[in-house]
Amino acid sequence: MNDCIFCKIGAGQVKATLVYEDDRVVAFRDAHPQAPVHILIIPKEHIDRVSALTEQTLPLVVNIHRAAIKIAEQEGIINDGFRLVTNSGKMSGQTVNHLHYHLMAGRKLSWPPG
Ligand code: AMP
Repeated sequence: MNDCIFCKIGAGQVKATLVYEDDRVVAFRDAHPQAPVHILIIPKEHIDRVSALTEQTLPLVVNIHRAAIKIAEQEGIINDGFRLVTNSGKMSGQTVNHLHYHLMAGRKLSWPPG
């Protein structure tokens, strides 16, 4: 997608603070962190949201979870715990229409989220 900011971050065309990258996935620090650790994990390939995943692209979710585990180890939060969440669609609060998972940690996170 030409005007997708997360596609551009994934392609290295827009700067972000990267914490992880492999051939299919990239992760970077959220520009407006809501927790001491707040990282976004995205597929490099453009997918609008969870509900846009297909049988062909669903395996990317495994890559994303694999990346999340590696990042949690890297960030030193694997034992204390973290939240991995994704918003899908306007009622969820999704603001960027490129599939992304929020990895959040470093404080006691309340539940349910607002
Ligand atoms: P969501 O509301 O689930 O769509 O989350 C979008 C997230 O992307 C928000 O937490 C924003 O702070 C974050 N965000 C938007 N643009 C950027 C950017 N250029 N670099 C890093 N984080 C961003």
